Amino acid sequence: PIVRLADYRPSDYLIDRVDLDVRLHPTETRITATLALRPNPLGEAGAPLVLDGDDLTLLAVALDGQPTAPGALEATPRGLTLHQPPQRPFVLSLETQVNPSANTKLMGLYRSNGVYCTQCEADGFRRITYFLDRPDVLAVYTTRIEADREEAPVLLGNGNPVEAGEAGPGRHYAVWHDPYPKPAYLFALVGGRLGRISSRFTTMEGREVEIAVHVEPGKEHRAPYALDAVARAMAWDERVFGRPYDLDVFNVVAVSDFNMGAMENKGLNIFNDKYVLASPDTATDTDYANIEAIIAHEYFHNWSGNRVTCRDWFQLCLKEGLTVFRDQEFSSDERSRPVHRIAEVRTLRARQFPEDAGPLAHPVRPQAYREINNFYTATVYEKGAEIVRMLRTLLGPERFRAGMDLYFSRCDGTAATVEDFLAAFAEASGRDLAAFARWYAQAGTPTVSVAGRYDPHQCTYTLDFHQSLPAIATEASGGGAPQPLVIPISLGLVAREGGALAARSERVRDGVFVLQEESDRLVFTEVASEPVPSLFRGFSAPVKVAHSLDTAQCLTLLAHDSDPFNRWQAAQNLALDILTTRARGGAPLAAEAGPGGAALAQALGGFLDAEALKDPAFAALVLAIAGDQEVAQEIGANVDPDAIHRARWTLRAHLGRALQPRLLALREALAAPAGQPFSPDAASAGQRALRNAALDLIAAADPELGTRLAEAQFEEADNMTDRLAALAVLTLLPGEGRERALAAFDETYRGEPLVLDKWFALQAMIPEPGTVARVRALMRHEGYSAANPNRVRALIGSFSLNNPTQFHREDGAGYELLAETVLDLDSRNPQVAARLLTAFNTWRMMEPGRRARAEARLRMIAASPGLSPDVSDIANRSLASA
Ligand code: ZN
Repeated sequence: PIVRLADYRPSDYLIDRVDLDVRLHPTETRITATLALRPNPLGEAGAPLVLDGDDLTLLAVALDGQPTAPGALEATPRGLTLHQPPQRPFVLSLETQVNPSANTKLMGLYRSNGVYCTQCEADGFRRITYFLDRPDVLAVYTTRIEADREEAPVLLGNGNPVEAGEAGPGRHYAVWHDPYPKPAYLFALVGGRLGRISSRFTTMEGREVEIAVHVEPGKEHRAPYALDAVARAMAWDERVFGRPYDLDVFNVVAVSDFNMGAMENKGLNIFNDKYVLASPDTATDTDYANIEAIIAHEYFHNWSGNRVTCRDWFQLCLKEGLTVFRDQEFSSDERSRPVHRIAEVRTLRARQFPEDAGPLAHPVRPQAYREINNFYTATVYEKGAEIVRMLRTLLGPERFRAGMDLYFSRCDGTAATVEDFLAAFAEASGRDLAAFARWYAQAGTPTVSVAGRYDPHQCTYTLDFHQSLPAIATEASGGGAPQPLVIPISLGLVAREGGALAARSERVRDGVFVLQEESDRLVFTEVASEPVPSLFRGFSAPVKVAHSLDTAQCLTLLAHDSDPFNRWQAAQNLALDILTTRARGGAPLAAEAGPGGAALAQALGGFLDAEALKDPAFAALVLAIAGDQEVAQEIGANVDPDAIHRARWTLRAHLGRALQPRLLALREALAAPAGQPFSPDAASAGQRALRNAALDLIAAADPELGTRLAEAQFEEADNMTDRLAALAVLTLLPGEGRERALAAFDETYRGEPLVLDKWFALQAMIPEPGTVARVRALMRHEGYSAANPNRVRALIGSFSLNNPTQFHREDGAGYELLAETVLDLDSRNPQVAARLLTAFNTWRMMEPGRRARAEARLRMIAASPGLSPDVSDIANRSLASA
């Protein structure tokens, strides 16, 4: 059934207190829920009480301690209706039974590696007990958990621990109380045999907090980085947002079967272990950075999500976009701001732009959904974060902070909306944000075109801006003609020979021009010489820029712009121009990269000489030219992934040849001194990143030399970053070296599932026709399991998202592999199956042959009997005509 934002109404009943008694058992867990209910003054008087359920068995029920009259109540696995509830406060007691071992959907209460855990967002609590499972019903929870002491010595709940003890022969219990009213999606419990490390933190209010990270016993040595990240996140949120932690304990638990990254349950964050466990020999620098970011993200939800929650699921971006913005700011402060900004934009362009350009496009706040779990998207998260960032750019840091403070204080303890959020900023700043709010309602990536003109007689420089907005009519977007957006454009003028150009314009404040009409003109006066405009500095708005900069102007920006983001962007633009021309068939195959390639190589050489050793992480990003998917997006229609791939390989080979002496010298200069212990800090990671980016280009140009260097690095590496980077280079070069290295890696890490995932992923990304067969063979590898979401994402997800030439194979074999996997997985875990299926979201921009095969495959999936609502929703929206 479809749910619409326009149909929101408050619940007819409220639940003030929830007392849970959970007796854990592998197959017959019993839950007694005692709910203190009352009619909602804002609801309909006398309405029946309709509680949500999913796959529940009801064992007993009582109303105010008495059995209910026959016919007073109706219960099915999917819901419970009390026809005439008392029109005063009353207590409903329910006993349900569930089977955690059979719960393969990983929603509700399930067992992962023998550990009992829960996942309730978005609608998993109804798989534990009947409930008003909606985020605007806030209750205070007390949870008693009972289990076999042998099986589950550790028992964790939300809030603070209040009591623990014996519960009969071999059994024990613990009681947890969470004083903060919360919606059911933030409920959690954990029971199991877990190792633990802990530390203490004193908040700005003087509260002593015990922080603990719980992992599989024996893996405690891989938990300290996550533990430290929690403490750094706590300190940062106090310093930057004035937000202290509010309970006496903060628990993080790592589990190995998890549908998403992690979950912000109050006081008890549950994580995919991929985002907790790290040691130098098992985790890459990227893993460390992700752990830090996701630990922070879930912690920051304590204010943006938990203390202030969402009124309904249409407001998901209210907590997710804001919290992504907060974790991005945290990582920028802890690491390098420009480097992190570039990484954020690369993610946005690789994941969100395609989503916004395809059949699954939806506004950051959708108008309608059929399956909410399909809306935990790059648009809600990443574009949602960009909107908050634009708000800060528009208001300035002080007014932004004042708005945040007002939002937190005014909405604390409530379930809020995007309107509440914007109202706080409007009030704190005195600005009218009505037009800005369109960012939440309109799907699609805007394009801003810019033309610049210099008048040497008047000494003026004129910029003409025009915004064009795609008209998107999907169920979730609601259609309607798009209205102009409020687009903050951070900009500056750069002199041809370098240095900022003095120039005046009344309409630029603090380096920002605000485009809010469809077209507008900006005139700078007192411009002494023809400048190069540096626009959208720091990527100040989530738009595509149709620039008219020529090669010379891009070279000026790459060499001289004071904004590091735009220096990087200039190199990207130079590469993208070459790649799109070639991939569209504009240059003969055998040719070298052409004059553009030579200019780019020369510019990158100059850049490396000047900057590489100053900021290796930044240099590594400049060397990493735009990926296949980004080129495909740029081309936009009739895409031939093979042509893109050839164009990229040719350009990389050209750059590798032209820069070879420099790249070899950099590898020498940046090699870690012998005996220096590994450190995951950003500076060391940056050095490794540049050495490995150099290796990648060297190998593209000279496979023989590349193989030699990579084999040596693979052997000698004392950390997973370098070992895996070497293996990645080897897997891209056909030959014996590849198979040897892959076999050695398999042998070494067979007992380490998270490491083996990297091995699955690399093989799934080999851009050769043998890969489909290889992936099928790997699905039978003893380390693979279709029941574990991380394994599935590593192998099948990498194949379909990060191997464009083989997923989009001309003969359709890639589509067939994905379809088979999705259908097979659907009966077990619909959420993960649906997520995998979104890889089809670029099908409409492929060339006609591939497009036809993809469409046929999607139709076959959509017509399959017994589809879950999750997969059916993605399949049908993917096919809906635009
Ligand atoms: Zn989140």
